[in-house]
Amino acid sequence: MPATEHTEMLSVPGGCLITFEGIDGCGKSVQASALANRLSREKYAVETVREPGGTALSEKIRDIILDRGHMEMAPAAELFLYEAARAQLMSQHLAPLLDSGAVVICDRFTDSTTAYQGYGRELDAGFIRQANGVACRDRYPDITFYLDIPWEESLRRRARERRDADRMEMEQKAFFQRVKTGYAAIAHADPGRVNHLDGMRSIEELENKIYVIVRKKLDSLRGVTDETENPRP
Ligand code: ADP
Repeated sequence: MPATEHTEMLSVPGGCLITFEGIDGCGKSVQASALANRLSREKYAVETVREPGGTALSEKIRDIILDRGHMEMAPAAELFLYEAARAQLMSQHLAPLLDSGAVVICDRFTDSTTAYQGYGRELDAGFIRQANGVACRDRYPDITFYLDIPWEESLRRRARERRDADRMEMEQKAFFQRVKTGYAAIAHADPGRVNHLDGMRSIEELENKIYVIVRKKLDSLRGVTDETENPRP
């Protein structure tokens, strides 16, 4: 629901950027939409977007990135396309939303680039950090959920959905093992931001766990303590 349509929404100073990460089929979109629904019911101004995408230009770039007709794409070309899509999304859409105090939930963000183009494609980590910083204007996520599933489970869930693999999903097991190593390293390096969750848990269990973590973060960003919510008599 667009953040701007509501007048009595709960606002978070500087906004709150929440990202979902993990390999395909790990449950990012299911959890992103469950969380958005819950927060909307609580009158937070919430916007959900997927990466690459979220603006007309970024969606066009998405089509190029995922097109199986472009198997020849060079790793550096892939990196710049992802960053181009992100730069547009951030300046046109996310930055104004965050400035207005909204909660933005992103299905993939900068950590995807570190994991896929850094660890998966083995591009230079320092350069990726810089490129990510430029594209997201140094506005990094406040909370990230890494939903960890085995590659075999990703294949099973995709088969169940009878979904055709896109260009990225055509990659082999070794590539996704490097991506998973990347995600684990990101989570290990930044435990205050990244919640490394077992994506094999049930949808409901994960949804509840995620909600508790997010509520705590939102309360802290809004300066709400137990005492302000339940003042002593
Ligand atoms: P992603 O966005 O990460 O690609 P989705 O949220 O689209 O993944 O989920 C892919 C499939 O896996 C869907 O059919 C979804 O219902 C199923 N799924 C998601 N989370 C779980 C889970 N925790 N346990 C079992 N199945 C799940």
